Amino acid sequence: MNDEQLLRYSRHILLAEFGVEGQQRLRDAHALVIGAGGLGCPAALYLATSGIGRMTIADPDKVDLTNLQRQILYRTDSVGVPKVDAARATLSAINPDVELVTLQKRLAADDLRALVSGADIVLDCSDNFATRHAINRACVAHRKPLVSGAAIRLDAQLMVFDLRAADAPCYSCLFPEEGEVEEVQCSVMGVLAPMTGAIGALQAMETLKIVAGIGAAGGGKLLLLDAKSGEWRSVRIAKDPKCAVCSTR
Ligand SMILES: [Zn+2]
Repeated sequence: MNDEQLLRYSRHILLAEFGVEGQQRLRDAHALVIGAGGLGCPAALYLATSGIGRMTIADPDKVDLTNLQRQILYRTDSVGVPKVDAARATLSAINPDVELVTLQKRLAADDLRALVSGADIVLDCSDNFATRHAINRACVAHRKPLVSGAAIRLDAQLMVFDLRAADAPCYSCLFPEEGEVEEVQCSVMGVLAPMTGAIGALQAMETLKIVAGIGAAGGGKLLLLDAKSGEWRSVRIAKDPKCAVCSTR
C-alpha cells in the first residue's frame, strides 16, 4: 500500500484486530454483490469505502423514482439510468482504488456458477426466493461464504453461511425450497428505509470480518430485527442433515 492508501484506511489499520494485514487481505479480495437495491447499495458503499480490492455488482434494473427513498447510491438524476452504471459512478467517485465489474443482467444458474467460483465471498442482496436459492446452490457447490440479507415492511434479517466449513448450514437448511412460504413481492411492498441501510451495512461488516479473518466465525447465525419494537434477536442455525442442497456435497 502507498502512503495515500495507508492514510485512507488508517482507521482500519489502527484496529489491533484488523491492522495492515487485514487491510491487505481486503485489498486482495473479490466480493460478488447480487442486487443493487435497498441492501446492495449500502453494502457496496461500505465495501468500497473500506477498500475491497475488487467488486462485481449485478442488477438488471434501471433506477426508478420509488428506489430513491432507500437506495443510497442513486441521485434524482439517476432515474432511468441502469442501476449498475449509476452505482459505478458513485462508488468510483468515493474510492477509485476499487476495481468494479458491473453486470446489467438477471443472473441465471450458469452465470452464478461462473461468477461465484471466481469470487471470494458472495453478498445476497436480491429480493426473491428463486434467486436466493440459486445463489445458495452456487455457494454450496463452490464452498464460498454467503452473507445474505432481507428487509420487508418493519422486519429484517441477516444470515451468514460460512460454507468453507463442511459442517456449515446453508440457506436451504433454513428455508427449504420445497417448503417454500408464499412469495412476498418485495418490489411492491412497503419497507422502512433505514432498515435496509442497517442490514446492508451489517452485510458489509460480516464480509470484512470473514475476509480479514477477525472476530467470531459468524457462520450459521440468523439475526432478526423487529423495527417496531427495536428488538434484535440472534438464533443459531443448525445444518439440516437431510438438506436437499448441502447434505450431499
Ligand atoms: Zn443446507
